[in-house]
Amino acid sequence: MDRLGDVEHIGIAVRGLGDAKKIYCELLGLECTGEMTLPERGVKVAFLETGNTKIELLEGIGEESPVTKFIERHGPGIHHLCFEVGDIERVLSELADSGLRLIDEKPRPGAEGKLVAFLHPKSTSGVLIELQEK
Ligand code: ZN
Repeated sequence: MDRLGDVEHIGIAVRGLGDAKKIYCELLGLECTGEMTLPERGVKVAFLETGNTKIELLEGIGEESPVTKFIERHGPGIHHLCFEVGDIERVLSELADSGLRLIDEKPRPGAEGKLVAFLHPKSTSGVLIELQEK
């Protein structure tokens, strides 16, 4: 069955975008292609290009930010994997029908304007998975 496609990006929770960009861009040589603040999601995001996927550096804004809470629990590190999907509504309803727990019952616009939805890590071996419509 046609469900998950390529890895669209890997999300990494960081304490500060400035320091993280020094490491990922200046030392490791990845190209930073954009940066934005999403107050409604409590994050600042920087997008980095790699060969065949992207990296999304995430800094939490404030105590209530899911990224701030993630760092309190686990420390900085890999926060989520994002896979491309064709029809996100269809994939979400099929996954819900198969008993998977969803964080988002309905897709919502993501950082890059495309529709996204998150699956609950309790259903996916402890990994937060984001789906992004192509
Ligand atoms: Zn993401």
